Order: sequence, then C-alpha cells, then structure tokens
Amino acid sequence: MNIHEYQGKAILKEFGAPVSAGFPALSVAEAVEAARKLPGPLYVVKSQIHAGGRGKGKFKELGPDAKGGVRLAKSVEEVEAFAKEMLGNTLVTVQTGPAGKQVNRLYIEDGSDIEKEFYLSALVDRETSRIAFVVSTEGGMDIEAVAHDTPEKIKTFSVDPATGIMPHHGRTVAQALGLTGDLAKQAEKVLAQIYNAFVAKDMAMLEINPLIVTTQGQIKCLDAKVNFDSTALYRHPDVVALRDETEEDPKEIEASKYDLAYIALDGTIGCMVNGAGLAMATLDIIQLYGESPANFLDVGGGASEEKVTAAFKIITA
Ligand code: GDP
Ligand code: MG
Repeated sequence: MNIHEYQGKAILKEFGAPVSAGFPALSVAEAVEAARKLPGPLYVVKSQIHAGGRGKGKFKELGPDAKGGVRLAKSVEEVEAFAKEMLGNTLVTVQTGPAGKQVNRLYIEDGSDIEKEFYLSALVDRETSRIAFVVSTEGGMDIEAVAHDTPEKIKTFSVDPATGIMPHHGRTVAQALGLTGDLAKQAEKVLAQIYNAFVAKDMAMLEINPLIVTTQGQIKCLDAKVNFDSTALYRHPDVVALRDETEEDPKEIEASKYDLAYIALDGTIGCMVNGAGLAMATLDIIQLYGESPANFLDVGGGASEEKVTAAFKIITA
C-alpha cells in the first residue's frame, strides 16, 4: 500500500526525522491558509499523487511549456496561483504512465535553501532477507539512471536484524556521502530514525530523494515515498486509515474486497488463474507469443463460487 508524501513525512516526523513544516490542502483556499501559517519567504507547492518524478512532470491541460508538479513560490499570491493551476489537473510523470494522475491534494511546505542533494532509501532485500539501505551522492535524480550509468556512485549495505542499526552503519552512510563533523552526526541519526520507522510500521520501501543539506547546515528529508507491506497491514490500523482509494485502480479495490490477488495491466487478454506461479507463467506465455495480458489474477486455492464470480465480473469489466 502506498501513501502520499505528506503522510510519509508525518510518520518520519513521529520518529524524530527532520522534515520541513507543511500542511496538506484540498482546495485553493486551504492552500492559501496553509501558506499563511508558514514563515516564508519561500514556499513549495507540491502535487500529492502516488507517483514520483512530479518535479519534472507535465500537466496535460497546461501545454508543453507549463512548469511541473513541484513548484517554488515566493509569496502567498504565488502559492494561490500555482494551486489553481495544479488542483483538478492531470499530472503526467515518468511513473504515472501516459494517462497521468489527477491532482486532488497539495502539500504546502516551508521552502528550504539547498546546498546538496543526496539519495537515501531503505527496502527489504530478498537476497539477504534483511533491510537494506541504498545511498548515493547523486540525489534529486532518477536513481535507475544513476545505477545504469554510474553504478560506482551507489552504495548499498544491509542491517543484521539481530543487532539492528549500529553506529558503523551511520559512519558508512556519512562516508558514502562525504559528510564529516556535525553533518556526519546528523546523517547517522537520520539513518537510525529511518530504520526505526521502517521496522515499526512494517514498510516495504522508504525512499528519500532528495535527502538534503541546507545552506544552514541542516540535514533534511525533502521527499518521502513510502510503501507498506500489505500482508502486515492488519496490525497497523493507523496506516490503513491513510489509504487514499482515489489513487488506486477501482478494479484492484474491488478485488481486494474478495481477497483476490489482482493487478490491472495494459493488455487485452484477461487471465483467471489458480496459483501465483501458474498466473506468472501464463503472463509469460502470452507475452512470448506476442500478445499482452490485461491483468494478473490469482484466485487462490479453494476459491469459492462467490470469489470466482467476482473475479469474472472484474475481468470482463
Ligand atoms: P519528485 O519530483 O516527485 O521526486 O518531488 P520532490 O519532492 O523530490 O521535488 C522535486 C525537486 O524539487 C527536488 O529534487 C528539489 O530539487 C526541488 N525542491 C523540493 N522542495 C524544495 C525546497 O524546499 N527548496 C528548493 N530550493 N527546492 C526544492
Ligand atoms: Mg523526489
């Protein structure tokens, strides 16, 4: 399950991690009210959609020259103007696909003066069965491109669950980012805070891109992309409450009511399969023969008549 950036930052804050002050807004009036509560003179107006690459994204309705889904405003009036442009419009980023996503929420944040941008993420590494960190000096960029073009600029390491996060992990991060003195200490602290949040909330991925150093010498999490392990949601009602169903595929929401493992895809051939392995193999076979599947669906073993009926309805819809 994914959440919005502002919700992810609220969780980070709960664990003591440094984030900017900010308020979510569902309307232009709320955006203005949010900006008035912030000190200024720099504000950031951030589109809240469940996809990254917003800064470099384009609004479908605003033409090719319009600015992206994250904009710096120098006054409350500018915040108002940007909010008007963003709310209700469709933002297309490298992660939304060509259809884009409608922006229904904004996050109005206190603007930071950036000295440096880094990349920091935590995820579950299946190879080591541990929580792993990925760190890079190349922040604010497309990390997949960095991994492809300059893999030496990415450092990864995993944490032994028996010991948890240790001071040497912090030192590894500080060294990878070329931080010394007080900044190294701050980075070590942030790493522990991120690890604690990750474990406590059963996250599957937490990506901070960028993690910044401000011109005032503070480390801050400027972006937050959080994905939770869905199988652990039953023990986190507070996380479930953050779910924004307008960001999800309605067919997937319907499927989850019947406990069906369903993923919507772009193709034309519907698939109803018993067992995830067979379902994956079916998708492969379809693609091998030059067609593309409309969905992944594992109805599971011992599927009831009710489940199969629901599955047929979802597929044929
Ligand atoms: P993304 O494009 O979806 O990854 O959204 P981000 O939250 O990462 O914002 C995109 C970019 O906007 C960042 O990489 C920063 O360069 C810039 N940005 C975001 N917040 C601020 C801020 O407070 N001050 C400044 N100067 N730039 C910011
Ligand atoms: Mg980002």
